[in-house]
Amino acid sequence: MYKDLIVNLALLISFLSIAGQFFKEKPMNSTLSCKLFGGCIAGILGSLLMFFSVQVNETMIIDLRHFAIILSLFYGGIFSGLVSGTIIAFSRVVFFGISDSSIMAVVIIFILIAVCYQIMKLKLSSIKLFFLMNITNILVLDGAVLFLLDDVKQILSIYLYYGIISIIGGLVIFYIADYITRSNINYRILKESAQTDFLTGLYNVRQFDFIWNNHLIKAKEKKERLSLLLIDIDHFKAINDTYGHPVGDLILKELGKLLQASTRSFDTVSRNGGEEFSIILPDCSDEQALEIAERIRCAVEQHEFYITETQKLNITVSIGLANYPETIDEMDRMIEQADNCLYRAKHLGRNQVCY
Ligand code: GH3
Ligand code: MG
Ligand code: MG
Repeated sequence: MYKDLIVNLALLISFLSIAGQFFKEKPMNSTLSCKLFGGCIAGILGSLLMFFSVQVNETMIIDLRHFAIILSLFYGGIFSGLVSGTIIAFSRVVFFGISDSSIMAVVIIFILIAVCYQIMKLKLSSIKLFFLMNITNILVLDGAVLFLLDDVKQILSIYLYYGIISIIGGLVIFYIADYITRSNINYRILKESAQTDFLTGLYNVRQFDFIWNNHLIKAKEKKERLSLLLIDIDHFKAINDTYGHPVGDLILKELGKLLQASTRSFDTVSRNGGEEFSIILPDCSDEQALEIAERIRCAVEQHEFYITETQKLNITVSIGLANYPETIDEMDRMIEQADNCLYRAKHLGRNQVCY
């Protein structure tokens, strides 16, 4: 029995680790395809658990398939739960044939899903929810056992063994699933804070470098055009000095949104530091880039930045533009060239685009 139990737990832990890798970037309940995929993984796991059941004694076999259902409901919601439940029910009937116990097993699966779904609506901590779902499963199964068997001794021993195995298994599985989930959440937080600017939510300079280098490689390989805009707010220090740093922050955030709204979905907008922003325009000629830069300059000039409900400010930006191959033939010097152009725009009186 212990050997079987260890095999079952190993199976559950292996599947949890694999699912943890799949849902590293996006949690299982994030999109319909994630929910479907998660439900399928849980369904396969539940079916395997049925095959590798725990032989308690000569007449009694117990399996841990309910954990696959509970995990899918817990992490993917009702849709994943129903997908996993359907796969497990299907496997039960296909591999073990239609009998009273098969029909009962299928009924139990869907009763378990319905009851656990109601439990999930309770505002309880994860461990309490998981524990409650596990206990529910023991009660639902025991209800079925009472229905199928009339030997009191056998019923009591099922209660005992199934209860002990489910509770030990539940604790191990909850601990590991929770550990993997927390690791994935920390991974996403770290990844996001390493790539984005905390104030505007745009890419930060590190991610700008990474994306820029990828664009350089791609443009060289495919001999594509590439444009870069470097944007700097004019006299921003005066805004900070007059209205205070929080107002300056408000303007940076709003400008970030405005820049994103003024560009195409595949352009990359970053805050490269302080009040300097950049936009990478892939496969964009110098004429198109100049048009976009001019449009952005006008949009900023005309935009009213509300700093209180009634008080508004206007700002302007200077923009330096570099384009490969029209304005520069050395791609690796594009940032330097855009920076020189920005410097010239400042020098020529600000609120203008130079290339
Ligand atoms: P120019 O037209 O020549 O660009 O003048 P400027 O005042 O915009 O440029 P300068 O480089 O002198 O000042 C930039 C200012 O940006 C100084 C700094 O306090 C401010 N700044 C940098 N980062 C932040 C930030 O995160 N929040 C706020 N509120 N201000 C910032
Ligand atoms: Mg400035
Ligand atoms: Mg600056």
